[in-house]
Amino acid sequence: MQYDHILIRYGEMALKGKNIKSFIIRLQENLQSKLHDFPNVKVKRTQGRMFILLNGHDPEPIIEKCKHVFGIQSLSLAIKEKNDVEKIKQAALYALQQNTQAKTFKVTVKRINKEFPIRSQQFNHVVGSHLLTNTTGITVDVHQPDVEIRIEIRQEATYITSSVIQGLGGLPVGTSGKTLLLLSGGIDSPVAGYLAMKRGVQLEAIHFHSPPFTSERAKQKVLDLAKQLTRYGKSIYVHIVPFTKLQQEIFRTIPDGYAMTIMRRMMMRISEKVCEQQSILSLTTGENLGQVASQTMESMNTINEVTNYPIIRPLITMDKTEIIDLAQEIGTYETSILPYEDCCTIFVPKSPKTKPKREKANFYEAKNNFSKLMEEALSGIETIKVTAKEKQTPYDGLF
Ligand code: ATP
Ligand code: MG
Repeated sequence: MQYDHILIRYGEMALKGKNIKSFIIRLQENLQSKLHDFPNVKVKRTQGRMFILLNGHDPEPIIEKCKHVFGIQSLSLAIKEKNDVEKIKQAALYALQQNTQAKTFKVTVKRINKEFPIRSQQFNHVVGSHLLTNTTGITVDVHQPDVEIRIEIRQEATYITSSVIQGLGGLPVGTSGKTLLLLSGGIDSPVAGYLAMKRGVQLEAIHFHSPPFTSERAKQKVLDLAKQLTRYGKSIYVHIVPFTKLQQEIFRTIPDGYAMTIMRRMMMRISEKVCEQQSILSLTTGENLGQVASQTMESMNTINEVTNYPIIRPLITMDKTEIIDLAQEIGTYETSILPYEDCCTIFVPKSPKTKPKREKANFYEAKNNFSKLMEEALSGIETIKVTAKEKQTPYDGLF
């Protein structure tokens, strides 16, 4: 005997009313595409349940993949058996014996199929005694068992599971539309992208690049970060904006205190244009209240003036330590702290205003005409498709 299924539980999605069907179908598609390297492994649905059919495959690498798929609340290895008392007893024993450390257990029977001849309570005892008789040193503890053997008797079959493995939760990527993530090479924006994905949002990314002040390595770092995010979803298109000329012009013509603000406003304007081209309805940033000069309330207000697109700021109220913990957990931290320069750190004004005003920003912008340089930046965008595959961008191997 061996585990032949993985049972997928999708918790929160059960609350989604009418959308439930499309959510479940999306989850199934996302899962199946994550598992495309295992052609014999299939994702199936029956009423209210999703299963992965292992078809003899080692479950470990499959479970690892599932742990990165949003929309899965938890999962369990399962054995599928006929609705046959003896077969179920054997499977329950197998499931218990897989937990070699367990000293106590409990059996929970769910009899969804009322035609099954033994009632839940009674069947609990039947299976419990079978387990006690066939093991040594293990006792029953109904309150805090080391392992719970769950037996779900359904119409088509019975599923026997034991340990529950936590999933990431959230919603399947692709069920909440698309966002354009402003992706720098820093710690914050990849985490913001991850959290947007967690709510079912699919990502495209935009990066403002200022060669030769920022190097190919800085750009590669951003592509690497995007690639790390593909673990949690699909391929990501990264739009690289040549920002040098516009940035230089801003820093040449705008008083020091407002250069940073106006540079950010330009980023927003260009990002919004890319959204229009790509039919994307929102922006996402790694902004975090109070962290730096550009992230005060006044500054956000002034930067935000130039777009009426919704801006998702998943990190806005988090502490830096929380953000760093999450960056480590999702695997982007090590790349983010590589020291390559970023366009915002190169052109650092000596004294950026921490309370820039809308009127003044508009005043300075009106005195200079940036529209031609903006057009140029937009038409020079290079778009790279970043996929989860190991070797893919022409930049691999640069180091
Ligand atoms: P991060 O760690 O994400 O770089 P940060 O703490 O350095 O954030 P800022 O430099 O003020 O904060 O940037 C705020 C947000 O603006 C970033 O989180 C990112 O979304 C966006 N941003 C900054 N620089 C760039 C860039 N070169 N390209 C694209 N987006 C950028
Ligand atoms: Mg930064």
